[in-house]
Order: sequence, then C-alpha cells, then structure tokens
Amino acid sequence: RSSLFHRQCRLFSTSSRARTIMPAWVIDKYGSNDVLRFTKNASFPVINYPNEVIVKVFAAGLNPLDVSMRGGYGAASLSMMRDPLSIKQSGSEFPLILGRDVSGVIMECGLDVKYFRERDEVWAAIPPWKQGSLAEFVVLSGNEVSHKPKSLSHTEAAAIPYVATTAWSALVNTGGIKKDNCAKKRILILGGSGGVGTFAIQMLKAWGAHVTVTCSQNAELFVRELGADHVVDYTAGPVEEPLSMLEKFDLILDNVGGGTEHWALDLLKPWTGAKYVTLVTPFLQNTDRLGIADGMMKTAATVSTKVIKHLVKGVHYRWGFFAPSGVALDEIREMVDAGQIRPVVEETFNFSQVPQAFEKVEKGHARGKTVVQIS
Ligand code: NDP
Repeated sequence: RSSLFHRQCRLFSTSSRARTIMPAWVIDKYGSNDVLRFTKNASFPVINYPNEVIVKVFAAGLNPLDVSMRGGYGAASLSMMRDPLSIKQSGSEFPLILGRDVSGVIMECGLDVKYFRERDEVWAAIPPWKQGSLAEFVVLSGNEVSHKPKSLSHTEAAAIPYVATTAWSALVNTGGIKKDNCAKKRILILGGSGGVGTFAIQMLKAWGAHVTVTCSQNAELFVRELGADHVVDYTAGPVEEPLSMLEKFDLILDNVGGGTEHWALDLLKPWTGAKYVTLVTPFLQNTDRLGIADGMMKTAATVSTKVIKHLVKGVHYRWGFFAPSGVALDEIREMVDAGQIRPVVEETFNFSQVPQAFEKVEKGHARGKTVVQIS
C-alpha cells in the first residue's frame, strides 16, 4: 500500500484547525426514529493518533445496523470497544453519530499517514464503535480508508464500503474464497437482493463462481441482472425444497438467518471443505442481554457446539462479521473501475431527510442501498 504513495501530510491544516463544531445528525438516547436530532453544534472530530485522517463527508450510506444501533443494539459491546477500561460514565457515547459508509475528501492527515494527502477522494466503512458519517466530517484510521473509485460519484461510492467489506470478510477471510480459487465453485447466497447480497453476487461472478441466489419473486430480474445464474423464490414455499433438488454447494453465504441454519448445511458438499458462513449471529444480542463476560462465554459455547455438530457431518459452520479494511477496498476499487462491480443505489436522500432515510431502511425489502447526500 505504501510503496506507491510515499506522501507525508501535515498534522493540521489551517482550514479546519479553527473549527470546533460541525453539522450532524446525532442521537442522545436509544429509541425509535424520533431520537434522531439535527444539530449544527456537533463536536468537530480530532486527530488523536498519528495514523488518523479527517474526511469531509460528501455521501453517507445507511445499513440495517444503523437502525438497530439507533435502538440500542450492540450498546454493551460497542461501549467496551470505545472505552475498554470503563473509565467513562454510562451514556458517554452520546451524542452518537450513526452512518457506516463514507465517500468524501481527506481534509487532514496525522503525522504517520503516508498513503493519503489532503484533497484525496476516499471511501471507507466506519467501524460501529466510531462516530459515523451522518456529519460534515469524520475521523478514521488511515488503514480503514481507501482511494475512491474514479468511475463513481460520491453518492455511488457510499453505497459500497460497508456491505463490501462485510462480504469480503465473510467470503474471503472466513469462507476462504479467493479470486484464483473461485472459478466454477458453486455458491449459494441466501438473501441476494439487499446490500450485502447485491455486492456479493457481483464479486463472486467477477471471480468466476456459479452463483445461486434466494430472494423474493419480484427481485428475480434484479438479481439476474447483477449476474445470478440461478434464482430461487423464497416466497413460493419452503425454499429448502427447491434448493435441495440442486447440485450441492461449495459455500453458502447466509444474509437471512432465523431458521436457515437448520437446513442450509445439508446443501453443502460433505467432506470437501465446504463452508456455511452466516452474517446473522447472536453475538451482540448475547452481550447486550448478559453483559460482556457472560455474553462472550455464551457466544463461545454456542458457536463451538455448532461447529463441532456440523464438523462430524463433514461441513464447516462459521460466523461472519464486518471487518474494516482499506486494503480490501483497494482491491474492490479496482474491480469497480474495471466495470466488474457496479453500485446498487436504491434511493438517495438529502442531509435534511435523514429520518426519512432511516424509515426507508427500517421498512426492509431493500433492493440495494440507501444513501444520504451530505454536501
Ligand atoms: P438488507 O436489508 O439490505 O437486505 C436484506 C434482503 O434480504 C432484502 O433484500 C430482503 O428483501 C431479503 N430477504 C428478507 N427475507 C428473506 C428471505 N427469507 N430469503 C431471502 N431473502 C430475504 O440487509 P444487508 O444485505 O445489509 O444485510 C443482510 C443481513 O446481514 C442483515 O441481517 C444484517 O444485519 C446482517 N449483517 C451482519 C453483519 C455482521 O457483521 N455480522 C454485517 C452486515 C450485515 P425482501 O424482504 O423483499 O425479500
């Protein structure tokens, strides 16, 4: 990453050193949509570590996680990530800024930042324990950020990072899929029409996989246009029945959860290293409900029991998680600029319409992504 761009940035630029406040949408407590509050007086982000950058936000992507976090989902674990020594009082995360995707321009670089310089156009997925992108500026670690694809507008770019780094983490890091081992692999995506699914279909097709997708009947054409080879309508009856008639799979990416894992692992090719990776896990619910220590113990017990139960049948059971990664976004940028992956923006909102954008995401039935234009 650093060999191409040995560029040293100034720690503070005069343009933003004078700023102490900025416009943002914040929440001051957890709840329904009415906790969202617009303010012109949110704290301006500060570079605390030499590897950090401040990004001026042009567009912010929303994800189902933003709606869940607005309601308090993951609060216990995320508070621990923000304040590992529990020095701060309860509620110190407020005012909290949501928004997990950003596309924008670098305003300031910490002293150790060599890969970026001021005015570079960048995109990033923001870890949920950090302040988000529904604001004029956001501070991020340099290793979470990547140069934005030149072929995309900021609005288009903001539709990709969070779902892309999640799909990358689940498929590549957990599922073991790579560009050079993917050709002709049979991959099943449960839930192909939302944010993660629409990205995963395109990435896997670009790498040569055979991709089967489940979705609603009214999304069939949509996912086929993104490259899906075979589509199964989950609204027509128990979806496991038509899926079980198909040749077995090398990998399943589960974006749906619920009862899926009761039947999905039977669709894998046994004793071949085939894996089921689910993104719908009880990890944060466990820590919210039981506290950090007991929640983590329960999580470890649950996942290890499931791994062993399926291992004896010759298939692998895994949980997948979002992982911020500028390096993954660098590779994804190349695929986007090569025309292999396109952004799927379902609806855009202005900065004044953030509550409406949340309502849209909360209604579900996504067909791609919801993006807020900040400036
Ligand atoms: P979206 O809301 O963008 O998409 C969900 C899609 O699934 C919609 O298109 C919906 O359309 C479809 N769907 C709903 N029910 C079914 C079903 N039974 N079978 C097939 N399709 C269905 O969500 P994302 O793609 O952003 O995320 C997917 C899941 O992954 C979410 O549960 C999310 O919380 C989780 N996730 C987990 C992460 C982690 O770190 N573990 C990170 C990111 C996401 P319709 O209802 O019209 O069929």
